[in-house]
Amino acid sequence: MPNYTAPVKDMQFLLHNVLKVTAADTPGYSDLDEGFTFAVLEEAGKVASEVLAPLNAIGDREGCVLENGVVRTPTGFKSAFEAMRDGGWTALDCDPDYGGQGLPYLMGTAVGEIFVSANMAFNMYQGLTHGAYSAIHTHGTAEQKAKYLPRMVSCDWTGTMNLTEPHCGTDLGLMRTKAEPQADGSYHITGQKIFISAGEHDLADNIIHLVLAKAPGGGEGTKGISLFIVPKFLVNDDGSLGARNALSVGKIEEKMGIHGNATCVMNYDGATGWLLGDLHKGMRAMFTMMNEARLGVGLQGYAVAEAAYQNALAYAKDRLQGRAVTGTENPSGPADPLIVHPDIRRNLMEQKSFVEGARALTFWGASLIDRSVRQGDAAAEGLVSLMIPVIKGFQTDKGFEMAVQAQQVFGGHGYIEEWGMSQFARDARIAQIYEGANGVQALDLVGRKLAQDGGKHVMVFFEMVKAECRAHDGDDRMKGFTDPLKVASKQLQTAGMFFMQNGMKNPNAALSGSYDFMHLMGHVCLGLMWTRMAKAAFDALDAGATDTDFYHAKIATGRFYMARQLPACLMHLARIESGAETVMALHADAF
Ligand SMILES: Cc1cc2nc3c(=O)[nH]c(=O)nc-3n(C[C@H](O)[C@H](O)[C@H](O)COP(=O)(O)OP(=O)(O)OC[C@H]3O[C@@H](n4cnc5c(N)ncnc54)[C@H](O)[C@@H]3O)c2cc1C
Repeated sequence: MPNYTAPVKDMQFLLHNVLKVTAADTPGYSDLDEGFTFAVLEEAGKVASEVLAPLNAIGDREGCVLENGVVRTPTGFKSAFEAMRDGGWTALDCDPDYGGQGLPYLMGTAVGEIFVSANMAFNMYQGLTHGAYSAIHTHGTAEQKAKYLPRMVSCDWTGTMNLTEPHCGTDLGLMRTKAEPQADGSYHITGQKIFISAGEHDLADNIIHLVLAKAPGGGEGTKGISLFIVPKFLVNDDGSLGARNALSVGKIEEKMGIHGNATCVMNYDGATGWLLGDLHKGMRAMFTMMNEARLGVGLQGYAVAEAAYQNALAYAKDRLQGRAVTGTENPSGPADPLIVHPDIRRNLMEQKSFVEGARALTFWGASLIDRSVRQGDAAAEGLVSLMIPVIKGFQTDKGFEMAVQAQQVFGGHGYIEEWGMSQFARDARIAQIYEGANGVQALDLVGRKLAQDGGKHVMVFFEMVKAECRAHDGDDRMKGFTDPLKVASKQLQTAGMFFMQNGMKNPNAALSGSYDFMHLMGHVCLGLMWTRMAKAAFDALDAGATDTDFYHAKIATGRFYMARQLPACLMHLARIESGAETVMALHADAF
């Protein structure tokens, strides 16, 4: 069975050496001193290793079962959920007015990574609740907040997000679920939603569904959509639970991974709901939380890859096969461990350099969200919204790829369920699809985000990369980072120029290159992160840090990324510059 140990040292490095959180002027950051963050992360790591990780394979094997309208989660999930609740882990970055601990989102993100790595399917029950909490917190009336939030913060009640219908996923304008206004101000919701994560289960007393539906008078397409609070059990004015609402689970889906999370068809048969936010502005309300929700999925991409990597590394050190080409390294054994072989090294280095780079990008993204939400910093908001499709799309694509590579280290044993490596690959796969499939992330990046506010945010990003390189001029140790970063950033700018020059007269030219652009930008972002991390590591060594192995490994891993991964940018640029011609050449009938 796979093991998991929280990468506390690496997280501490990011928080204190790279982001230098206590020196940042973001509200709440000055409290995040090294001792405090260490204690939180260590404790979260214990819960992850001792409680959540042992349930990961059980959840995968047993899955969720629907019996007589009730969904039973896998063995151990209920008591683990209680442990999470009792430990206050569900309330970390929630508003203290509703029982939360008020920590920055950045800390919620770091702890979230630890829990996702240990058990992604389990963590989704809390993750979805957090999304619904944020929506009510941002758009709810005072009465709605008082009624729902305290129980959602504690996860006594969980939450869901209901967007998808059988005929509409990406194109929500086709939505058919209806909301009929009632004399008392409530609405009756009728329709079917599919693929609803945590739609029904036995972990909480109530489930607060947030449902998108069309209310009369809103017009066609997405304009007519509103957002509604539709609880499984109606909530009385005194907070006690009332009648069962007219909603039910139709079935739970059989699926490739995340078996421990119930993915439900939800039937709303005139269920009572209350408007959340403004009428006909449901899309806007739902997508206010988009940055957080998509960052959370981007995090799933590398968090699962981290767990897979840890196990691949242990196996590579333990499994004896063949001899090192440069001479025996384990003379007393029948063969050398896998890790002596250059191709296994390549594989492990690709995993390690991706996971650590993606963690840095995600933590930086979370810190921008804190600045934008807690300080109303518009520049931070602009920058993070540019970065979000990259964090979501690039990191989940690579996360899956790396989980498959980790499986590869095990050879045939990776394909056999016993070792648990196939679960990582199967679980990681969904993150490329939900919360906006990755092709749609690329569309969002190229079709919307690049040009947003007159292209201001992408210019800020390019300036930031330039400034980072300039800051290390004259430091020979940094040349292995800044030289490739300059080249890659130039390639990204050239790709952007290609879209500007060709996209207007031929939109296909831009859209057929959008996926490559998302990956090109992902590499530049990770190149930037590795440059920052290398500088922080050199600084720590210069300052006489004792754990020199850690910092030397950090620099060596960064060098690998710059030398072996960043050159992919050239390939992406070549594809982009080839335009739409070869992509669109065939008639649909000719395929
Ligand atoms: C396990 C699981 C859990 C989920 N959880 C939830 C949940 O909790 N709540 C919820 O509401 N939904 C949930 N979903 C639904 C998920 O968000 C959708 O499946 C996803 O948004 C894609 O929608 P679709 O499946 O209808 O695909 P479609 O919209 O039919 O898209 C199919 C493919 O076409 C591409 N595509 C579509 N339009 C375009 C375009 N204009 N240009 C280029 N490419 C395009 C997409 O990228 C995709 O690859 C879940 C799905 C799964 C499988």
